Amino acid sequence: MPSAQHPSAPPSDQKFWDEALETQSRAEWNALKLRLLQQHLAHAYQHSAYYQSSFDAAGVHPDQVRCLDDIRRFPFIDKQVLRERQLAVPPFGDLLAVPERDIVYISASSGSTGVPTASPFTAQDFDQWIDYEARQFWSSGLRPEDRYCHSLNFSLFVGGPCVLGAQRLGALSIHAGTVPSERLLAIIRQFQATAIWTTPSYAWYLGETAVKEGIDIRRELNIKRIFVAGEPGGSIPETRQRIEALWGASIYDYYGLSDIFGSCAGMCEEKHGLHWAEDHILVEVLDPESGAPVAEGERGELVLTTLKKVARPMIRFRTGDIVSFTSDPCACGRTSQRMLGVHGRLDDMLIIKGVNVFPSDIEAIARRDHDFSGEYKLIVERDHHLDVLTVEVERAAAYAGADAELAARFARQLQSVTGVSAKVLILPAETLPRATHKAKRVEDRRTGVWG
Ligand SMILES: [Zn+2]
Repeated sequence: MPSAQHPSAPPSDQKFWDEALETQSRAEWNALKLRLLQQHLAHAYQHSAYYQSSFDAAGVHPDQVRCLDDIRRFPFIDKQVLRERQLAVPPFGDLLAVPERDIVYISASSGSTGVPTASPFTAQDFDQWIDYEARQFWSSGLRPEDRYCHSLNFSLFVGGPCVLGAQRLGALSIHAGTVPSERLLAIIRQFQATAIWTTPSYAWYLGETAVKEGIDIRRELNIKRIFVAGEPGGSIPETRQRIEALWGASIYDYYGLSDIFGSCAGMCEEKHGLHWAEDHILVEVLDPESGAPVAEGERGELVLTTLKKVARPMIRFRTGDIVSFTSDPCACGRTSQRMLGVHGRLDDMLIIKGVNVFPSDIEAIARRDHDFSGEYKLIVERDHHLDVLTVEVERAAAYAGADAELAARFARQLQSVTGVSAKVLILPAETLPRATHKAKRVEDRRTGVWG
């Protein structure tokens, strides 16, 4: 039963959900991943028409895989491939590697461009996923004594069923979904929820709404943990600290992808990087241009290969997310590799005067300095073939100094962090629109290379 508490859920004072797995040596991780990869590639080749033809066309065969680096001989896939194959062989595409009767659940991507792609799960895929979510929640300190309020969308969204991970762990699980903020605050207050999952922007907005409604967050509410995903903010220390201060709670950043599963990396209680589900996913971080692996700590594109999901194996999926990672031991005792946050999406990366700039770099500046409210907007234009970056940033309600001084300070910090100069416009507090889901903070008005 996917929703039942795991029969072997450990006692609450135990640090690990599965200690032998979570603390094994790096050599043991690599041996486990190699064994899973060999099986998974063989399954994909035997049962998916797409993979059979794409491996054949590339002249590679699963039998040739002797070490983890051999994955680099296999072809990439991306969102475009998923869309094309789904259109060619509806409704699930020919990356599918099981009979349709074995599929019990699908999620679909929000599909900001084009048709959403479906992500199918067998009963076994679903069950293993939920078990992993329980393990991840446990690593973030959630326990059976908690009251967990899940306020993510349930409509085809892969984040929805993650609530079952908290339920399997044994926490009292409140399936709130996405309801108006006043209603959500009422639910949190009535049931004295101790944990909640939402986006970073919404956590901030919800906290500000509570303050406006006259709710004394620390006295009347009982939130101790906030799980966030879907935006870089959860891994930007300055953003995290401001939301934590607002709520008097700890923020844990999680990372998931509709085309893989809900959350496949998350912060432990040390909150330094997100531990990967390394027994479910083989992670590569590659230079987006050359495809060569980048060194630890360097930024590169995240490329993921599933190791267990049999319904639709994902072999070398280019996520478009720019991340960095570390294999250094974590103080929590877990030995899995950690992602040091998502710096942005390749699509979000702005090239300004030839310099790569991520909105997350600018967000860190806006949130570090308490003379700013933390809200900001970027506008990029082209004037006589030259890029012009304008940053609109709100001053804090309590700031009583001169706007010119504030603008100069912001511009100086921005130049030193990104190497780019910008016009900075200081706006009164509460001017910029507040996000209720994913924040839209960039307006690129440039048209074409010479526009
Ligand atoms: Zn850790």
